[in-house]
Amino acid sequence: MLVMMEKTHQEPELAQVIQVIESLGYKAHVLPGDHSLAVGVTGNQTCQDLERLSQLPGVKEVIRVSSPFKLAGRTFQPADSEFEVGGVQFGNGHFVIMAGPCAVESEDQTLRLAHAVKNAGAQVLRGGAYKPRSSPYAFQGMGVDGLKILSTARAETGLPVITEAVDLPSLDRVYEYADIIQIGARNMQNFTLLKEAGQLDKPVLLKRGLSATIDEWLMAAEYILSEGNSRVILCERGLRHYDPHTRNLLDLGAVLVLRELSHLPVVVDPSHSLGRRNMVIPASRAAVAIGAQGILVDVHDRPHEALCDGPQAISPDMFAGMVSTLRQLEAVIG
Ligand code: PEP
Ligand code: MN
Repeated sequence: MLVMMEKTHQEPELAQVIQVIESLGYKAHVLPGDHSLAVGVTGNQTCQDLERLSQLPGVKEVIRVSSPFKLAGRTFQPADSEFEVGGVQFGNGHFVIMAGPCAVESEDQTLRLAHAVKNAGAQVLRGGAYKPRSSPYAFQGMGVDGLKILSTARAETGLPVITEAVDLPSLDRVYEYADIIQIGARNMQNFTLLKEAGQLDKPVLLKRGLSATIDEWLMAAEYILSEGNSRVILCERGLRHYDPHTRNLLDLGAVLVLRELSHLPVVVDPSHSLGRRNMVIPASRAAVAIGAQGILVDVHDRPHEALCDGPQAISPDMFAGMVSTLRQLEAVIG
């Protein structure tokens, strides 16, 4: 339900609307618009509630919203979301380049790569301290030590940091050290984790699940938004498929669908989707061309030594060349 306020409404009238919504057991989400202010209502609603809210002073009309993703969809908020993290603008026409190693492997490796990607034009540093691996025998990440290294890298380069939380204990740690919390493909429907992340005041990058539909993905975003965290970034990272030539099936059409359905920023991970170094640059170009609002890309200077995902990491030189092409493309496409 969407409560549209009169243009001339007074502050106490808005306060009363919120108070009534909350007294009915719902959540109120104030949605300032260019021309008028609305209050989104989430929770199971009845016709009587709708009636009661429409009678309140300052209320222009109450609209039923049939979309299941009330907060992620464009009905409540038609305009693109825009927010700032550590001096970097996300959404609404901005194309953000996030880059770094798949995993934090050591202080030396991470600082080397942080400086390299910063000098090449990255705006956010990526690096996993908690790694969700298919095999329990594979490198699982450095944990808190890795987060501390990322903090040092931020202090040295000024780049905000994105890193993954894999469960509730790591979410607390990641919140402490990171600027953006990544929730990975394997956790896209970990509703407990999503709800907790929704209560935090740091942005969340939500990757698409291994074989999630777009609706399932938006509903996962809805879990975060409905807890009050409005800063969600969606990341397309390819789907499970049957062809062994690429790691996953990069669904660029999903970017178009999401741009239509949702106001949230959509970014593409060309590394985890295709899994092959030589495909990362063309796929990143395609991401710009199709209207994505950023990329999250693996960069490593010694991929043969990488503890995780070496075959998909591009070198710092490749990355530098790519950034300049992407910025030119962005200027052309507008
Ligand atoms: C990652 O970005 O390091 C990662 C594990 O990605 P995904 O969740 O897409 O597999
Ligand atoms: Mn990886």
